[in-house]
Amino acid sequence: MKFLKWDVMQRVVIIGGVAGGASAAARLRRLNEDIEIIMLDRGSFVSYANCGLPYFIGHVIQDPSTLELVKPQQFRNRFNVDARVNHEVKSIDRDKKTVSVKDLVKNEQYQLSYDYLILSPGAEPIKPSIPGIEKVPVFLLRTIPDAVLIRDYIEKNESQKVVIVGGGFIGLELAENLRAISMSVTIVEMLDQVMPPLDREMAQFIHKELISNGVCLFLEDPVDSVGRTNKNHPFIKTKNGRVIETDLIVLSIGIKAEGKLAREAKLDLGPKGHILVNKHMQTSDPAIYAVGDVVQVSDLITGQPLAIPLAGPANKQGRIAAENICGRNTKYNGILGTAVVKVFDLTIASVGLSEKSLKNTKIQYEKVYLHPNNHTNYYPGAIPMAVKLLFETPSGRILGAQIVGGPGSDKRIDIISTLIKMGGTVFDLEELELAYAPPYGSAKDAINLAGFIAANVLRGDQPIWHWHDLAKIKERNGFILDVRTPGEYKLGTIEGAINIPDTLLRQKFNELPQDRPIYTFCAVGYRGYLATRTLLQHGFKEVYNLSGGYTTFNVARSRTENVIKACG
Ligand code: FAD
Repeated sequence: MKFLKWDVMQRVVIIGGVAGGASAAARLRRLNEDIEIIMLDRGSFVSYANCGLPYFIGHVIQDPSTLELVKPQQFRNRFNVDARVNHEVKSIDRDKKTVSVKDLVKNEQYQLSYDYLILSPGAEPIKPSIPGIEKVPVFLLRTIPDAVLIRDYIEKNESQKVVIVGGGFIGLELAENLRAISMSVTIVEMLDQVMPPLDREMAQFIHKELISNGVCLFLEDPVDSVGRTNKNHPFIKTKNGRVIETDLIVLSIGIKAEGKLAREAKLDLGPKGHILVNKHMQTSDPAIYAVGDVVQVSDLITGQPLAIPLAGPANKQGRIAAENICGRNTKYNGILGTAVVKVFDLTIASVGLSEKSLKNTKIQYEKVYLHPNNHTNYYPGAIPMAVKLLFETPSGRILGAQIVGGPGSDKRIDIISTLIKMGGTVFDLEELELAYAPPYGSAKDAINLAGFIAANVLRGDQPIWHWHDLAKIKERNGFILDVRTPGEYKLGTIEGAINIPDTLLRQKFNELPQDRPIYTFCAVGYRGYLATRTLLQHGFKEVYNLSGGYTTFNVARSRTENVIKACG
């Protein structure tokens, strides 16, 4: 193993002992037995599973001690790391290479010198100054004590109603867990969708899932104020004037980097207060490294500055900082934001650039939608997935993907994430050889299909249109052809569409215009694709298939008001 041996014992001080900090500490020790490692956390725990907190609140995890992954004593025994809980770092003196630490139990302050410092203080939940906030029980969720506080409050007060402000992944996990303990749950969200990393049409599937599980969802309706009724009951008032009585409120509207120490120490920061680091996780001070939610790194695809708060990157960056301190030239090459969340029966996973973010770049892109099952149709329990794949044109380089489905959505996103990292294209997706047996997938796996469809588009075999193209079609005097069965057609179709089932198409060419572009569609895209191929090969010049079919069209175009109405 190659690492530096110093003549004098070096001391590494780590601020923050959870995801990034604890990883750094363990890696440092594995690489070098001689370093003195002191890991400070102002909380009462190190290396705990903040990702498990919503499940503790929902009683899926009963015992909070199981959330403590490694206890301070274990850090001492196993890694010879001096892990000090309830020790808060108040300031950094870069000239003297010392930190000022407060022992929160003894209420004593002391100085600690360092040779290297690793900052992993994370990010704190945003608590905005909502008028009336001091009058009502408002909670935030970041730490084990926060989760215990929420669970205890609900139990002691026999709370039945909760309003969650913010529909990000923590808000959604909380919604599921609070429904699991039979609470009446309302989500109030300022945007027109939950799960901001997804594009809105994909988030619509989550909206449906929330509503069908009894969650009341108010979109595009930010909080205006909170207060108490005449009967002293807490309520929340939204900007649209809606008043929702509740027993408690949980704010999960986002986080902000804990950049105070770094700012006061005059390290270089990004526009939102994140610490700037190079690829070695080194800050503008060569003796100070920073990792995790507090840092700004770069987007692996675009190279643009980016900060995404996720446990995986924090852990890996901690490891990389440790390796560099030990003399290795390890690099963090950028973040993809590969993420997964469970919302009731849905598994929602995404990676890379969304269409929203692509619109802010100069990258030329196309997208395809598909709705394959998570395993073979004939094996019981197959669940459809909604897949959106974004790729560069004409190269086919994969840029991002979003899947909303059941079990197996996560593994597909992980494969796509791996391909993106390797610079893979949709043509690689076509070729991937993936494990298959009926309970797990299909001989042509869902993501092979995504590759086939995208490659068909790029090769010109399957020109496509999208759910948002109706105005353009009208302008071009396009002919919309519904190739589903008459029964499906009767249940609902696209305005102006003519129904000729794909099985009858070859007998009915004379009913189709030769001089107008034809826009086919079916339920999910497969029959429309067959129809497109047939028509193109029989001399129809311009034929396009609706990507994702009527399923994507319908979900994508259903309006937020419908969602709100469904809440009652
Ligand atoms: P943290 O893990 O937050 O650790 C920072 C530590 O530093 C804290 O313990 C803090 O007390 C301490 N600290 C801060 N300032 C000081 C100071 N001045 N002195 C001493 N100590 C200090 N990510 C996922 O990828 N998947 C998930 O499912 C997921 N679920 C989550 C659920 C919840 C409820 C939360 C809150 C987060 C979740 N995350 C998830 C995000 C993930 O936990 C973070 O991205 C990750 O923990 C960041 O690691 P970090 O080391 O930067 O900060």
